[in-house]
Amino acid sequence: MEITLPTTQHVVRPGKLLCIGRNYARHAAEMKSDVPDQPMVFLKPSTALVAHGGAVVLPAASNDVHHEVELVAVIGKGGRRIPEASALDHVDGYAVGLDMTARDIQAAAKGKGHPWSVAKGYDTFAPLGGFVAARDVDDPQMLDIDLMVNGKLRQSGSTEDMIFPVAHLVAYCSRIFTLEPGDLLYTGTPEGVGPVQRGDVLEATVTGLPPLRVTVEAEDPPTP
Ligand code: MG
Repeated sequence: MEITLPTTQHVVRPGKLLCIGRNYARHAAEMKSDVPDQPMVFLKPSTALVAHGGAVVLPAASNDVHHEVELVAVIGKGGRRIPEASALDHVDGYAVGLDMTARDIQAAAKGKGHPWSVAKGYDTFAPLGGFVAARDVDDPQMLDIDLMVNGKLRQSGSTEDMIFPVAHLVAYCSRIFTLEPGDLLYTGTPEGVGPVQRGDVLEATVTGLPPLRVTVEAEDPPTP
């Protein structure tokens, strides 16, 4: 999937999706996990992206795929070792995203000390809404973030409650990975995550950003 950066109007294919785990204390608590003392970073492949109006496809290998609504920042100006004080200058815009997670596969991986790539990386596991230019977002740490499933509110939080704010995450990630225009940063989910079923309609909103709506479909089991 290609994206159009909201300020520069450059069309790019995102090189990487940087995702942050446990960035809200009450979500860490509901997962019975400790609050990390530094950002917990994992990656999704860009093939997981699906746009507003599309469908999340439940893989046959999982019986427990969860929604995680997240604020997403898109990098407009690349760099490495970016200071936190200027980190937001590298963010071109914001969107609403969903970090779909095969919770059963993730739990098995955690138990074995294995990576999360499979649980997080299936095709369609990274829905992404439309962008608003960063200059039109007054304060990315003062936004309400909600998710409705079939019209019922399931997640409701504020980006104010992020443990590590966007600027810190950009600076931190840039000390590990060279950031490039079009890279996406999924900044973690507030509490209230839960399973989705075939036929569900997911509607994710963040103050001032275009809403993200996707439906849920199920893939046919593989033929033996
Ligand atoms: Mg997440």
